[in-house]
Amino acid sequence: MSLLSVQDLTIRFRTEEGLITAVEKVSFDIAEGEILGLVGESGSGKSVTAKSLMRLMGDNAVFDPASRITLHRQGGDLDVLGLRRERDMRPVRGGEISMVFQEPMASFAPAITVGAQMVEQLLIHTDLSRKAARTLSIDMLARVGISDPARRFDQYVFEFSGGMRQRAMIAMALSTKPRLLIADEPTTALDVTIQAQVLELMKELVAEFRMGILFITHDLGVIAQTADRVAVMYLGNLVETGTVRDVIRRPAHPYTKGLLQALPRIDDLDAPLMPVPGDIPGPLDRPGGCVFHTRCGVAISGLCNTQIPQEVTLAPGHAARCHALTKDAP
Ligand code: SF4
Repeated sequence: MSLLSVQDLTIRFRTEEGLITAVEKVSFDIAEGEILGLVGESGSGKSVTAKSLMRLMGDNAVFDPASRITLHRQGGDLDVLGLRRERDMRPVRGGEISMVFQEPMASFAPAITVGAQMVEQLLIHTDLSRKAARTLSIDMLARVGISDPARRFDQYVFEFSGGMRQRAMIAMALSTKPRLLIADEPTTALDVTIQAQVLELMKELVAEFRMGILFITHDLGVIAQTADRVAVMYLGNLVETGTVRDVIRRPAHPYTKGLLQALPRIDDLDAPLMPVPGDIPGPLDRPGGCVFHTRCGVAISGLCNTQIPQEVTLAPGHAARCHALTKDAP
């Protein structure tokens, strides 16, 4: 069952230099119990997309009128962009949708114990008593693998190691049993061993709670280990979507191929890494036609720089936007 639908999401920001486009006509769905990986370099619009699901945008954000974000639920669908008042968003933020960030210090206030913050969140979003909220919080700390959780509950975040902070943030985000978890580069700052543990933990929790996860990362390797489906984003556009298996085994878009070539090869660790050539253009230098044409090694002159490619379906659930995939391309 679909949990969240995003349709034709276009977000622009008002700046002194004029309107800049951060996200353009992005559409995707997340089902219950599914992990969707949203992948792309810094500046591709991943985090803006994620924040828009919780309406955590600055006042200068402008949504195109065609944009739709719908949270499907038993009591009736919720039109997230139609919510006008801050208080209408309260059941959504930290309730039905929770978010974990790359930097856990952003989630915890330094002068309040970790446990007090967890309890506070539960009191806002659930009907639990303070005592029950404390019991559940300690239980969640244990569930994410924090030893001696009752003692840790009364500590401050600076007393936790990096991996422990990340786990505590996940415990807090999951304690309200959100239907959707947005994980924005949640393991980037962790060492490889802890990263693998946190990824495994997230997969277990998805299976147990049947929540959906939008997993944001610049690393297709992490997506390959974690996600069910992947959406590849470049300059605010989704350029390829499909199951992890299809996209990793049969990448169709030159940008996806470039991201894969930039990963270390497990069978040849000495092979040189091939980063995607060039830099992602700034939002004020957004190219016309295909947004990737300034970095694409197979761009078709006279076509790619002038015409926006349409989506081409390659297999059920696997699609990409590239002129080179169209049979009648010159
Ligand atoms: Fe490259 Fe053209 Fe395809 Fe864009 S449309 S990715 S520029 S070949």
